[in-house]
Amino acid sequence: MDYISTRGNFRAVKAAEAIKLGMVPEGGLFVPTSIPKISLEEIGKLMDKNYQEVAVEIISKYLTDYTLDEIRDCVDQAYNQESFGHPDVAPLVKLTEEMSILELWHGPTAAFKDMALQILPHFLSKAIKKVGSEKEIVILVATSGDTGKAALEGFKNVEGIKIIVFFPHHGVSKVQELQMTTTDGNNTHVVAINGNFDDCQSAVKEIFADKDFVQKLSNEGFELSSANSINWGRLLPQIVYYFWAYLDLVKKGEIELGEKMNIVVPTGNFGNILAGYYANQMGLPINKFICASNENKVLTDFLNEGVYDRRREFFKTNSPSMDILISSNLERFLFEITGHDGQKVDNWFKQLKDDGIFEIEADSKAKIKAMMVGDFASDTDTLTTIRETFEKHNYLLDTHTAIGVKVYQDYLAKTGDKTKTVVDATANPYKFVSSVLEAIKGSGNLGTEDEFEMLEELEKISGLKLHSGLEALDKKPVYHEKVSEKDNIRAVIEEILEEGK
Ligand SMILES: *Cc1c(COP(=O)(O)O)cnc(C)c1O
Repeated sequence: MDYISTRGNFRAVKAAEAIKLGMVPEGGLFVPTSIPKISLEEIGKLMDKNYQEVAVEIISKYLTDYTLDEIRDCVDQAYNQESFGHPDVAPLVKLTEEMSILELWHGPTAAFKDMALQILPHFLSKAIKKVGSEKEIVILVATSGDTGKAALEGFKNVEGIKIIVFFPHHGVSKVQELQMTTTDGNNTHVVAINGNFDDCQSAVKEIFADKDFVQKLSNEGFELSSANSINWGRLLPQIVYYFWAYLDLVKKGEIELGEKMNIVVPTGNFGNILAGYYANQMGLPINKFICASNENKVLTDFLNEGVYDRRREFFKTNSPSMDILISSNLERFLFEITGHDGQKVDNWFKQLKDDGIFEIEADSKAKIKAMMVGDFASDTDTLTTIRETFEKHNYLLDTHTAIGVKVYQDYLAKTGDKTKTVVDATANPYKFVSSVLEAIKGSGNLGTEDEFEMLEELEKISGLKLHSGLEALDKKPVYHEKVSEKDNIRAVIEEILEEGK
């Protein structure tokens, strides 16, 4: 299978090259030329397979230039008992008659990004061998918290690759900072930047675009690559768990094989929900895609009105991983919806870049409306939903998942649609401990500002075992203490690469 650009501006490449490049060098994202199909009968045959086996089946339909053994090897290294504490990898928990929660946070860093970032490094290291590169790959990551640690865990000790993560100094929670700075491994580097997340992100983007610097690194034997969600290798592993959730519903007798389910996705960059769309286009029966946003509701407005307008106030919410106004993966969705009209997509995204706004035409609007529902929830709604769900079901939601649950409850009340529904749980509640504790105890009753005391307190109240990735973080050795000015990033990178020689 070949991969083409959403903007019709690049030659077709094999999966390995698409994964190695990360994004289309001329702008645009790689997508498969056609979406592979899977029949209901084939889905039925997946019923008695475990997560790893289902993953191999789905992934091999897309990575046709990888051997089955190579794919098995990637899957085994990613989804094993050591990294994912749960035998189901992504267990499904029934909360109400209609709603089940798909727990995507059992990986090493307690956020759903592990589902993709545990396997991407293995796809990439095999891609490098296939495409051929004598250079050592250097992954640069700018993070506001979650992605950095998930990428560090995924790439640590992977041969032929180094990873450097930049985070805003004093701009992430203590738990998030320690998660990153205590990472071991012989190829991991973490640098605090004096600035905010946007400063980190712009600095990294500038480096990718700095042809002289890229050439200089190349002469020294290094090639830059990216691990963010525009890489096809990050999207693909996410398709798997929609099949897994569906199979689980059938196995438990919640639905018959062939019956449709709804999915609810707390959304930021549109990657997770897009993976569900690909699963559906392959043949997985899905009724509605419910796209849940926080107060940065650019997607809610887009899905309802067909106008994408990022010229708006940016809110810092209690679901920070969804605080985003430019949802990069929407581009792939629009490419599919318009029947691969790269010209149209190119125009829309040029308008977004130049004017901050674009509007799609009536035909595409109607297509989107028929399958997707967009809605949002406020910070207050989020906390209320966490408290009510805990009181009613003795089940702890994190802030992001709570947005999904709230948006679904509103949808159910409005439509009466009784279709069985899966809500993606994108983070473990301990990861956002202060908001979750505030929800349960009421604001002003936290009694401490120390996040580690909060973790203990939440464990006492909820009885949910603390996620192993967050255990004893304050007692682990800190390996990474570099701090840099944002204008000095190039020198820091060179220093790190020089040390490693
Ligand atoms: C990244 C993230 C999201 C958003 O996922 P997208 O694929 O960007 O839509 C939601 N919740 C959490 C906890 C995340 O880390």
